[in-house]
Amino acid sequence: MKIILIGIQGSGKSTQGNLLREKLGVPYLSTGHIFRELAKEKTPTGRYIKETMNAGFLISDEKTVPIVAEYLSRPEYEDGYILDGFPRTIAQAREFENGIDYVVNIKVSEQVALARLTLRKGTENRADDSSNAIKQRIEQFFTHTIPVCRYYKEKGKLIEVDGQRSIEEIHEEIMSKIKSHTS
Ligand code: ADP
Repeated sequence: MKIILIGIQGSGKSTQGNLLREKLGVPYLSTGHIFRELAKEKTPTGRYIKETMNAGFLISDEKTVPIVAEYLSRPEYEDGYILDGFPRTIAQAREFENGIDYVVNIKVSEQVALARLTLRKGTENRADDSSNAIKQRIEQFFTHTIPVCRYYKEKGKLIEVDGQRSIEEIHEEIMSKIKSHTS
């Protein structure tokens, strides 16, 4: 099964992604995690990724698409995956025709997202959790990623869930919507 997770920053994509991984037995990967690892490399690409992420901007489609394609071509993802953070732009979605089953949009208001991210700042110590970068990432979400939801809605693949409930309730809603789509 191939599932894409979409949601505003702070919507709980990685929490839900990991629960789905356990429940469905499908590997989980996140492009944010991939880029945070690449940002540690002392190469021109590593430096570009680090600066772009820390400012809260998206990595260019030209760089992102081949990096993600390379990961997904690995044998462990052959039978499926839960992908968090990609595609995040229409150009990425168009280039990525990979037999996706579902695109799950975890819906959370901007206010709730901001409150959660401000809390996370103290615990996760991410370089891109500065106030400016958070603001920028939320803006990028509305500009670039909301159109991706519309793109998949038109293809009949979009599942929308209310992300402002408990972790278990959100997980149950995702599972039951996946089941009703399948049957
Ligand atoms: P969040 O969803 O909280 O912004 P992520 O960990 O998903 O955090 O992503 C962190 C950063 O990684 C983004 O701000 C962006 O710079 C980069 N990134 C992740 N996925 C993509 C993508 N598909 N396209 C371009 N940049 C990306």
